[in-house]
Amino acid sequence: MVPAALAAKWLADTWDQNAALYVISPVASVLESLCEGWLVSLLGLPPGSAAGFVSGTSTATLCGLAAGRDTLLRRQGWDADDRGLFGAPEIRVLLGAQAHSTVYKALSILGLGKARVTLLPADDQGRVIPEGVPALDDRTLLVLQAGNVNTGAFDPFAAICGPARAAGAWVHVDGAFGLWAAASERRRELTDGVHLADSWSADAHKTLNAPYDNGIVFCRHREALARAMHMTGSYIVYSRERDGMRYTPDMSRRARGVEIWATLKALGRRGVGELVDDLCDKALALAAGLESQGFAVRNRVCFNQVLAACASPALTEATLAALQASGECWCGGAVWAGEPVIRLSVCSYATTAEDIQRSVRAAAHAREQAARTLQGRTTTAPGPIAGGAQPHRETTS
Ligand SMILES: *Cc1c(COP(=O)(O)O)cnc(C)c1O
Repeated sequence: MVPAALAAKWLADTWDQNAALYVISPVASVLESLCEGWLVSLLGLPPGSAAGFVSGTSTATLCGLAAGRDTLLRRQGWDADDRGLFGAPEIRVLLGAQAHSTVYKALSILGLGKARVTLLPADDQGRVIPEGVPALDDRTLLVLQAGNVNTGAFDPFAAICGPARAAGAWVHVDGAFGLWAAASERRRELTDGVHLADSWSADAHKTLNAPYDNGIVFCRHREALARAMHMTGSYIVYSRERDGMRYTPDMSRRARGVEIWATLKALGRRGVGELVDDLCDKALALAAGLESQGFAVRNRVCFNQVLAACASPALTEATLAALQASGECWCGGAVWAGEPVIRLSVCSYATTAEDIQRSVRAAAHAREQAARTLQGRTTTAPGPIAGGAQPHRETTS
């Protein structure tokens, strides 16, 4: 994480302020307001959009989908706040076939069901195919993503969000690590049209390199988010200033805005763009290095994600295990297009060009080791050598 962010976190932890209400912590309220405005501008979201500072994208997505669900139902004359979902009119949920598992988690918590969704076909990079999106209406919740967790690819927002908006559907964008592309002049086009959505989730603890426990929900319709998160009590003193708990499921909360403010202040608008570009450029260098060592790169590298594979699935799995055991470079595995892959994410601002080359060397070395091990197995113990021996560890970028 960037040093200013850590220092600000320590300071805020020492203050031990509760960011629930303005009256409890004016400084947290003011810094959250500033961050809201800066982030909305940095990410090119509609001016006036609300931001809620939550623990991560899992929670941010939950909040965005809650606001969407309640809004779609209210339009149909149903108040889900009071009446819940028993007897409620149906809303249709559309997801890209490659939606992140946290979207399913949010849907299940919100009573929308993981299994009753309609999956939209995706292309070989995991992007929703616009022609595969059915006619939309004002009873539809559509979830898109900025940054596929494996390939890093972005859904084609411009083609989908315009018509969705015209039809009155609610669009939520899971932009955990990818929404930050909008801060880079060189990568902004990946997010073209994303501002036409209704709500967005992003993680400051991913691409922005703020400390963990820093997710953000953005919502175009400030009151829709506030209504979905609303609570009252005789002892709760709302003010005319920003009361952070209006936009989050939590009441008492760390003053996260302090460290996000410090991160943005330290980097500046241009600095955030450079940070994003640096991670992406290093991912390209990593992919090129791996290819020069004979690895196959399975994704079109457009952001910070690289999927690498060896000559056989068994060798890929064994190489991943050897690389993880080496302690030189951490990466997880995934299954992409039905085959195991080594899933590398360039996440830290502190990663150097030398770290990238070292990782490439470590991967090549791990593959040599893995090949020897597999060779040994075939000569000493005839029988199946492929598949399944090494458990995959799912990581998020
Ligand atoms: C990391 C990630 C999430 C989950 O975010 P948390 O901050 O870990 O809750 C959701 N979606 C995508 C695409 C992610 O990369």
